Amino acid sequence: MIQAPVSNELFERAQHTIPGGVNSPVRAFRAVGGNPRFMVSAKGPYMFDEDGNQYVEFINSWGPMILGHAPAVVQEAVMAAVPNSLSFGAPTRKEVEMAELIVSMVPGIEKVRMVNSGTEATMSAVRVARGYTGRSKFIKFEGCYHGHGDSFLISAGSGAITLGVPDSPGVTTGVAADTLTAPYNDLNAVQTLVDANKGEIAAIILEPVAGNMGLVVPEQGFLQGLRDICDKEGIVLIFDEVMTGFRLASGGAQQLYGVTPDMTTLGKIIGGGMPVGAYGGKAEIMNYVAPAGPVYQAGTLSGNPIAMSAGMAMLSHLKNNPEVYAQLEQTAARMVAGMEANMQKLGVKFTINRVGSMFSIFFTDKPVTDFESAKTSDTALFGKYFNAMLKRGIYLAPSQYEALFISTAITDELADQYIQANFEALQEAL
Ligand code: PLP
Repeated sequence: MIQAPVSNELFERAQHTIPGGVNSPVRAFRAVGGNPRFMVSAKGPYMFDEDGNQYVEFINSWGPMILGHAPAVVQEAVMAAVPNSLSFGAPTRKEVEMAELIVSMVPGIEKVRMVNSGTEATMSAVRVARGYTGRSKFIKFEGCYHGHGDSFLISAGSGAITLGVPDSPGVTTGVAADTLTAPYNDLNAVQTLVDANKGEIAAIILEPVAGNMGLVVPEQGFLQGLRDICDKEGIVLIFDEVMTGFRLASGGAQQLYGVTPDMTTLGKIIGGGMPVGAYGGKAEIMNYVAPAGPVYQAGTLSGNPIAMSAGMAMLSHLKNNPEVYAQLEQTAARMVAGMEANMQKLGVKFTINRVGSMFSIFFTDKPVTDFESAKTSDTALFGKYFNAMLKRGIYLAPSQYEALFISTAITDELADQYIQANFEALQEAL
């Protein structure tokens, strides 16, 4: 049993000065019970907490650390950049090289603008799509997360297709009214919304593989169907690849599925662990961004030289070492096969969804294809399972509605350790 008295004490202390004790809600472990661990350092597949406990981890800082923690290639690039300046607030060669690198990797990007987070990227992309089309509304999908911009914090309620209703106090009904929602994988629902709002929809935004309702895979024809609707109606198709970009393939989900969006939003891996985001797309659309065009978007620290150095080192490594993706695929397949065998042996009701190095276990025997079906998972069992894994030194995302991320630091031995822990933790949790 892992003890964490120092983390417990820090969490208690944190709550006096930080809302809920954390700087991002899911870190507080509210969905699974127990207290969060306060981390001190991380290397390769391991994180170490304030109490000296070691965890094999499968979150990768929510995605960015695809090469494991503190990879030499990224660390060295950061160290080399630090003496020159932490920030110029003026253009640099690195920003040009970074833009060229992104354009060379992501099929749908001809021009790109750097920002500091995924949230900034999605907010800006929708603004540009609105400016470009002169239309106000956009469609998002239930259970897809696009950061905490007001217009994205909208749920569809229980109805199949509804007008947006704010999900969080502070989001006005005025803002919500322009966000239309449809169930994931439901092309008919999208067509119905488009027909009912003819000529008013600026964009359709989605996670091309959804990772924020647990992992949900786009069904055959879904992405192409959206592409066709957008082409017919003059709607800007935005793939939010903050999670999937550079993870499912060096060119993201759009490369994997062979469907090219008009705009793409990026985050996480693109910064190699530093706070970076980006949005890009067809030159014709991106030329609407100031100062080339009239749509305003700016950032004091955008294109920060240290962040660019980390991101470039990471992306160059992924571009030049395509075998990374084969390795990730093999490790993830091994883990999923091991879990499936465990759960069959134990008689657990389960569905596992996986694409490349992202996967989720749902404790339900129903196929999980959208948010409604994801919600059939037994979340109480997930909470028990999460804590039983943590006790065994395995650190998972503390919510049913998150995906696991595998890094290249996970060896076959660690994958097998995970599979063994999975068996024992399930036995304990059931
Ligand atoms: N879009 C997707 C698909 C995400 O998964 C996230 C964050 O998890 C975001 C946008 C927001 O990114 P950030 O947390 O960097 O603002």
